[in-house]
Amino acid sequence: MKPVDFDAHVLTPRMARIIEARDMTAQERFFRLQLPQPLTHRPGQFVMASILGIGEAPISISCGPRHDGQLELLVRNTGSLTHAMHQLQAGDYMGIRGPFGSGFQLSEFEGRDILFVAGGLGLAPLRSLIEPVVGEPQRFGRVTLISGCRTPADELYREQMQAWAKRPNVHVIRLVTDTDHLPWGGEVGLVTAPIAKLEMDVANTLAVLCGPPVMYKFVIMELAARGLPNAQIFIDLERRMRCGIGKCGHCQINHVTCCQEGPVFRFSDLESLPEALT
Ligand SMILES: Cc1cc2nc3c(=O)[nH]c(=O)nc-3n(C[C@H](O)[C@H](O)[C@H](O)COP(=O)(O)OP(=O)(O)OC[C@H]3O[C@@H](n4cnc5c(N)ncnc54)[C@H](O)[C@@H]3O)c2cc1C
Repeated sequence: MKPVDFDAHVLTPRMARIIEARDMTAQERFFRLQLPQPLTHRPGQFVMASILGIGEAPISISCGPRHDGQLELLVRNTGSLTHAMHQLQAGDYMGIRGPFGSGFQLSEFEGRDILFVAGGLGLAPLRSLIEPVVGEPQRFGRVTLISGCRTPADELYREQMQAWAKRPNVHVIRLVTDTDHLPWGGEVGLVTAPIAKLEMDVANTLAVLCGPPVMYKFVIMELAARGLPNAQIFIDLERRMRCGIGKCGHCQINHVTCCQEGPVFRFSDLESLPEALT
């Protein structure tokens, strides 16, 4: 286990002012927060977000690195804390500890083609890497994003995906599993469907996946069929986490503490941990 850096903001929540709050879908609420000091996070890291007297939960940072102390989160209403967060408005405050986790090293992606596969809310953490990659096209290769959700009403970051799709060297495939009789300009099917047809330079491609656990197994099977080695696949694993500093053991998978060594893993590093994808 890595030594813990007991920096004050790792243990003590900083009060962040909400400067924008809006519902993105019926279940997800978007927040832009202003912290007293910049968080200096890496893509793929998360924070422990809290409301005093109610609780605290891990929430992925959904924006690229920022120097102005702003932070973006997307919160799904699933339980008591996230329900309370959905009542918050601009001008209210949220507690923020962190950032936590290993995250992605941008330098590993330099010059590489990148295939992002996002299922539902998985787009939120991936956006923290997609933003800097799309923002510096000269530094990275071809970018492909496959993003799937249940119905058009569940789609996240629609306008931003449409804007990314207009950038040179960026290909965005948006899917729903059911149009639910709503107007829909994308494809219908699962995120696995487009993989077999993708133009892919296998030797130079890195794949980054985030979504529900069931998605990983089938996406990895499709990538394996294209010949992509496990060492070129990164996955973002959500586990129940409490402390964020590898002490409480809630998120442990055998010897691996997800909050510290993850939540981002190279798939080849998980091969000896079959329970990681369950
Ligand atoms: C690294 C990481 C990043 C996350 N990022 C986000 C994010 O960006 N946005 C977001 O909305 N949520 C995110 N989550 C999930 C969020 O932390 C949980 O949903 C949290 O429990 C919500 O707290 P609550 O009190 O509202 O609900 P709770 O009462 O804690 O739980 C509500 C329901 O969700 C289930 N649940 C809770 N945690 C998990 C889990 N880890 N895996 C599976 N089921 C679970 C519970 O069993 C229960 O049924 C993330 C989790 C992790 C570990």
